[in-house]
Amino acid sequence: MPSQELDLFVVGAGSGGVRAARMAAQRGAKVAVAEMAALGGTCVNLGCIPKKLYSYAAHYAEAFHEAHGFGWPVETPEFDWALLKANRAAEIGRLNGVYGAVLEAAGATLVRGRARLVSANEVEVEGRRHRARHILVATGGHALMPEVPGSEHAVSSDAMFDLPRFPKRLVIVGAGYIACEMASIFRGLGAQVTQLVRGSRLLRGFDDDVAAFLAVEMGKKGVDIRLGTHLQRIERQGEQRLVHLHDGQVLEADTVLCATGRGPNTRGLGLEEVGVKLGARGEVIVDAQYRSCVPSILAVGDVTDRVQLTPVALAEAMVVVDQLFGEGRRRLDYEFIPTAVFTHPNIGTVGWTESEARARCAAVRTYQSEFRSLKHTLSGSSERTLMKLVVDDASDRVVGLHMVGAEAGETVQGFAVAMRAGATKAVFDGTIGIHPTAAEEFVTMREPVGR
Ligand code: FAD
Ligand code: NDP
Repeated sequence: MPSQELDLFVVGAGSGGVRAARMAAQRGAKVAVAEMAALGGTCVNLGCIPKKLYSYAAHYAEAFHEAHGFGWPVETPEFDWALLKANRAAEIGRLNGVYGAVLEAAGATLVRGRARLVSANEVEVEGRRHRARHILVATGGHALMPEVPGSEHAVSSDAMFDLPRFPKRLVIVGAGYIACEMASIFRGLGAQVTQLVRGSRLLRGFDDDVAAFLAVEMGKKGVDIRLGTHLQRIERQGEQRLVHLHDGQVLEADTVLCATGRGPNTRGLGLEEVGVKLGARGEVIVDAQYRSCVPSILAVGDVTDRVQLTPVALAEAMVVVDQLFGEGRRRLDYEFIPTAVFTHPNIGTVGWTESEARARCAAVRTYQSEFRSLKHTLSGSSERTLMKLVVDDASDRVVGLHMVGAEAGETVQGFAVAMRAGATKAVFDGTIGIHPTAAEEFVTMREPVGR
């Protein structure tokens, strides 16, 4: 028997689901949210948060070396993988509790278990039916593994945070966000890392100069990036893995990570059975209001296979809540979404790449600056920083802003506000820099390098 009718049933208590459930409940809606794993979803448990914590951990290795130049002749201590894992687990556990408390405080009911839609207005969890006016699918995505013999001997990013033993020799397949971040992190922590890239560059979709610059910087830090390299098969030999490449080479590894993209979690959800149309990759097809072709069923976040970023899932959830329980005026503009890749050094980027701008604008100017930061004049590090602006000649608007360097994500977040406000190059030029910072370079580049 279905329980009393809800206003909203959310499937998945990850980034998008928790935000939608909380905001809807705060607006007085009767809300329940189902979760079959840990609260907080990918970002909290297996994504952004543990990844960033491990990136901080990896930066310490450099910091011990660099301290010498500043008068701290410290010995580099031995890295303790078990300690890092335990501290990460404790912090994630705390966050899981915070998410539970937030839902409870808002008045949303948490239903534990795997959910399945049984009609346009009903969801079943652990044999119990819940009836709701609206159903929001926020089930996220999962790692896709390449179809090569022996791929079962590789792991996805999900396993990387809790590997029983630290992988001294790590082979990573892929050139996207996850592959590059994991390569930087595990190299920083002391692993010998080989990154296998099937194409001719890292990070497809990012600016060409940015990708090329990052490859050089990662290489300097010891990541062995092999472009144009195809994985043929993986063989298990006791505890180690043998990675067979297209050219006959065989690499020995303790762990093989496949970071080869992610696909939407729709299998077994009952969506097609209740009439929801899925796309070729299994994603829920939604309109501009996040409605599927069944009007009572909506979807946000990674399950729609569009922009797979936590702040986007959060923003989409806010639009849905506003539409269902508010004034319905909120919209999400997908232009100029800033993003960072937490490689060492970081990438921070907002707006168009140079080639995108050239395709969209009649004429484009670019400004570029590459330098060794003040810190590294004493640290002994050879790390360099890249900054690039892409400007539409006709309007003078800055349409692309890219950085590779320390804390690039932190730097670019602020510039993203200016870019959304339509800042022109003249506005950048009229802005006083903060000295001495790396970021001041963005307001002091005067001579175009490309036109
Ligand atoms: P999720 O957060 O994945 O939540 C989906 C939830 O639904 C999960 O908890 C799942 O258990 C639950 N669920 C699924 N099916 C069911 C079911 N049938 N019944 C009940 N519950 C179900 N993004 C960034 O912006 N910055 C980063 O630095 C970043 N780093 C990342 C690093 C990694 C390694 C990965 C994998 C991703 C990273 N992302 C990052 C992407 C980000 O994590 C996702 O875009 C975001 O979590 C998507 O939110 P979501 O609400 O769509 O899904
Ligand atoms: P991406 O889509 O970013 O990258 C997938 C990579 O795998 C590409 O380099 C692709 O190569 C390669 N690839 C795909 N199939 C194969 C194959 N069969 N053999 C070899 N290589 C293959 O996916 P990720 O898994 O890295 O990340 C998923 C998403 O999660 C990201 O797009 C991002 O939205 C989000 N994320 C965000 C982060 C952040 O904000 N910092 C961090 C981590 C994830 P090719 O280019 O040739 O197609």
